[in-house]
Order: sequence, then structure tokens, then C-alpha cells
Amino acid sequence: MKDLAGIGSPKDGGIWRLAFTDADLEARTFVEGCLRETGAEIRIDPLGNLFGIVETGRPGPVVMSGSHTDTVADGGRFDGSLGVMAAIEAADAISSGKGCGTFIAVDFVNEEGVRFMPDMMGSLFFTGRLEIGEVRSIRDAAGTSIGEELNRLGYAGTDSMSDLRPDFFIELHIEQGPILETTDHTIGVVTGVQGLKWFEITCSGTSNHAGTTPMQNRRDAVRAASRLMDHLHQLPDEMDGVRLTVGSVHARPNLINVIAERCVFTVDVRHPNPEVLSDAERHIRARVRAAEAESGCDISIRALADAEPVEFDRRVVEAVARTADESGFPARRMISGAGHDAQILNSVCPSGMIFIPSRGGISHSPDEFSTDDDLVAGANVLLGSILALMDG
Ligand SMILES: [Zn+2]
Repeated sequence: MKDLAGIGSPKDGGIWRLAFTDADLEARTFVEGCLRETGAEIRIDPLGNLFGIVETGRPGPVVMSGSHTDTVADGGRFDGSLGVMAAIEAADAISSGKGCGTFIAVDFVNEEGVRFMPDMMGSLFFTGRLEIGEVRSIRDAAGTSIGEELNRLGYAGTDSMSDLRPDFFIELHIEQGPILETTDHTIGVVTGVQGLKWFEITCSGTSNHAGTTPMQNRRDAVRAASRLMDHLHQLPDEMDGVRLTVGSVHARPNLINVIAERCVFTVDVRHPNPEVLSDAERHIRARVRAAEAESGCDISIRALADAEPVEFDRRVVEAVARTADESGFPARRMISGAGHDAQILNSVCPSGMIFIPSRGGISHSPDEFSTDDDLVAGANVLLGSILALMDG
């Protein structure tokens, strides 16, 4: 993990391994070298996803595990890397005689989606939800396409994985939240990933002089927006487990002495249960209509994104829970607040995840940190869970 953290880390600080850059390729090449040492057969697909295959020679299922080695800008050393390095350790243990069936360690490309959208691109491609032609034509902000970067770097391979589809997928990852640390648990048994909906709300009023326009004659877009925001922020108090964030606000003309004619803000709302999430959306839309009637401004709402909650497979969840229990690690069941490759894999095979604590709940930052003891505990629970699935 320390060697991997040195790649794409030019100065003392964060890691810069944005997808399809030189540093990203250097990290994947490092992972490939580690996998070769375990005796795994290496395959690289046309988008650059890296696979290390270990055949045990005994009949059994195909179990896949891994994560990603790309990072956000100025990212941390554990997000993604932990799941890949722990899968390499598992490959090593399995090639020295453990388990039945086939094990595949994987390093998926572009999980973060910072430079090229969408995120979780490698797993979306692997599961057949993206075509190579459309992916190669995706461009970054500077106009460079993925196809151009794949060609420049020699990043892509020609291997197919169509003969080796996983029966199970399991991913070890840092929590990226504070729950395990604050409740003194070492292992998070992840039962699912919460869903999310994004909205953009536009309040339109009339621009006028801040000093001469009587208060009762105003159609003030910012006042309408702030009252609506206040009502929306009350939603989590009324609906258990709902997380709601207004993260972006823009006023026009955005001047100190002018009543704003327009105020646009975003809403991010999340919950693990699809019915509660739909219910939250109904409440949001009702509050928008009420605010429009009350404020005299025109208020519109536009949906920007809609990701269904994911429920992980019981067999994988129970394998993790049992392994953690047998290993004597304090474990708790929990929902992932962030998105991961495992939720994409869950659409093609039973999948699950294991979390370990993140100090202060911090991630996507140079301050991201997990202790050596927790890293080792996570890797051991991962190996135990993989073997439990392989041995049926
Ligand atoms: Zn990650």
C-alpha cells in the first residue's frame, strides 16, 4: 500500500491519479506486477480493466474481488487502493492452495469519474452497461477523448472476460464516513447502498431597487428560495434517515443593493429505501408548489439524477458477518453512503462489501487515514469471506 501511495504523489500531500493519466497507468502497472507474482493469469480488457485469474483446479464458483486505483484530485491513499491490494493478497493465498473454483482479482478503471464522466465506468463497461465505442468518444474538459488517452498510454488490452463471468463479487473499502470509528467497530458489514435524487430548483421574481421598493411589493427570488430551503431542511427531521443537502446556490444579479430576479439552488436527497426516497420527492415537490403560492415568485423544479438504492445479496452479507464474527472483530451492519463498483456488479451477480474505519470519517483528501490494524483486519475478513463463498 505504501509503494502504491507513492505513485502520483509528486509532493508531500495528496495523490493525483485521475483516470487515464500517466500516474494512473503507472499504478495499474504496479498492480499488474504484484498480481503476476502471485502466479495469476493477467488479462486487460479494451477499456483497461485489469484482471488476475487464479484457477484452483477444484470445482467451485467464480468469485471476483477488487476495487479501483484511480483517485480524485489531491485524494487519499486508501480509497480504492485498499480493496485492490487486499484482493492481491487473497490471490496469493488462493494460489498457494486455498479455496475451490476460480478467483479473480480486479482493478476497475475510472471509478471516481472526475476527469471523464460517468463514475464507476470500468464496472459499468464490464457489466455490459457501456459500449466500448461510446466510452472511447467521451471527452474531458480539455477536449481529450478516452480513446486518445488509451492510444497514447497503451493502456487498453485486447482480452475478453466473456468466458469468466463472476458468480459472486465482494469489495473491501474504507468507510468514508464516521460511523465505525464513533461506535468502536472494526468491520462494517455493508447491506446496501443508499439511493439518491438530485434536483435543481429555480425561483424567478422581479429585480428592483433594495432601498425604494416597499417590502410588500417585492417578488424577491432569494427570499422565496431561502424560505423554501428552510422548509426543505426540515424534511430530515420529519422523515427518519433522510439526508438532504442544498449544496449549490446562485442568485442573479448577485449584488448587495438589488433585489434578485432569480435564485437557482440544488437539492441532494438520499435514503436506502426506495419508497421513502419517492416519498421524500413527493414532499419536496409539494413544498415547491406551496412556496410558489406563498411567495408570488415562479418556482420550477427539474430532476438532475436518480439512482435507485441497492440491496446486497444475503449470501454475501452473511459470509462477511460470519467471517467477522469468527475472527472476533466487532462488526455492525450498515448502509454505504457513497457509490462503489460493487453496486454495479450487483446487477449481474450476488455482491457485497466490507468497510473498515476511516479516521474522522475523512476521505477524498490527503488526511484520509486508517490504522494498520484495521487494514489487516479488513484484508483478513475479505479473504475469509471469499473462501466461504468459494467453498460454498
Ligand atoms: Zn473508492
